[in-house]
Amino acid sequence: MINYLYQEKNWQSQLNDLISDPEELLALLKLTTHDLKSEQLLSQHAHQQFKLRVPRQFVAKMQVGNAYDPLFLQVFPHHLEMQDMEKQIQAGFSADPLGELEANTLPGMLHKYKSRILMTITGACAIHCRYCFRRHFPYQENLPKSRDWFAIEHYIRDHPEINEIILSGGDPLTVSNDKLAQWINRFEQLPQIKTLRIHSRVPVVIPQRIDDDLLRILATTRLKVILVVHSNHANELDIDFDVAMRKLCNINVTLFNQSVLLSEINDNFYILKALSYRLFDARVLPYYLHVLDKVQGASHFLITDATAQTIYQALLKELPGYLVPKLVRETSGELHKTPLNVF
Ligand SMILES: *Cc1c(COP(=O)(O)O)cnc(C)c1O
Repeated sequence: MINYLYQEKNWQSQLNDLISDPEELLALLKLTTHDLKSEQLLSQHAHQQFKLRVPRQFVAKMQVGNAYDPLFLQVFPHHLEMQDMEKQIQAGFSADPLGELEANTLPGMLHKYKSRILMTITGACAIHCRYCFRRHFPYQENLPKSRDWFAIEHYIRDHPEINEIILSGGDPLTVSNDKLAQWINRFEQLPQIKTLRIHSRVPVVIPQRIDDDLLRILATTRLKVILVVHSNHANELDIDFDVAMRKLCNINVTLFNQSVLLSEINDNFYILKALSYRLFDARVLPYYLHVLDKVQGASHFLITDATAQTIYQALLKELPGYLVPKLVRETSGELHKTPLNVF
């Protein structure tokens, strides 16, 4: 643990002080080109396409000198991303694997599943995960402005089956508390909306984001609030995360986690079992275990369905039911996430 990387800063200053220079990251981890295999070397091309971005606090959880650290491998832009692009495309890796551009009903809004809409209220994230299925997503054209709310509100009223609004992104918790409060206030005006769900990785990478103002906003809304955090490995979770989750739990926010199955990072029964127990220590229940979305640049993270199913079977045998996430795939055009069969 390298604590000197960051002081106890508030979350805005942490967000303004992210590491975005790959050389700086390598230096902090005392990794030289000597420690990296050739395919692991920095790819400027990959970095230009989807910039390195990682909070110092997350880097502090990486093991110095370990080129195979599971947190490091999630954020470092290296050569495998750009390798065999023809082959990646042939194997079905695309720029928009979920067909989101088509499902984009209104600016900043996706309505794929009957009772819930997803809103991308910001394009910004606190961390750039190399496997991100939105790494090529044209956010700038697709953020709801205040004036777009009129149309979205209209759409929701025309679809009485919608009862839940999911804030996604980008990462919705990179947005200021004032902005969030403004959005929540709009949702509350619609009697049909019962639940607000926030999907965010920020509580994992900058737990101080769960500050008093945010807690006040979430404690006073009439909506039921669900937070789905995103963690792939128990090494990502620390005492600051526990404290943040305890505060949310105390104001009755329902806490879930989703993970992505990633080759070399968590494609292993022991790691996933440890993650489930670690999440439960923090009062978070595992919700989804996603197989990789086939996005260009992420093909080296892919594991076969057969391997995924084998790992999953072991989880079923070892864990209590409430600590087994649902193993799913997101398929464009389907009306729900698709469970992978495990016999
Ligand atoms: C995953 C997803 C949801 C939420 O699905 P749940 O099964 O309710 O977790 C909603 N909308 C979109 C577009 C999604 O991708």
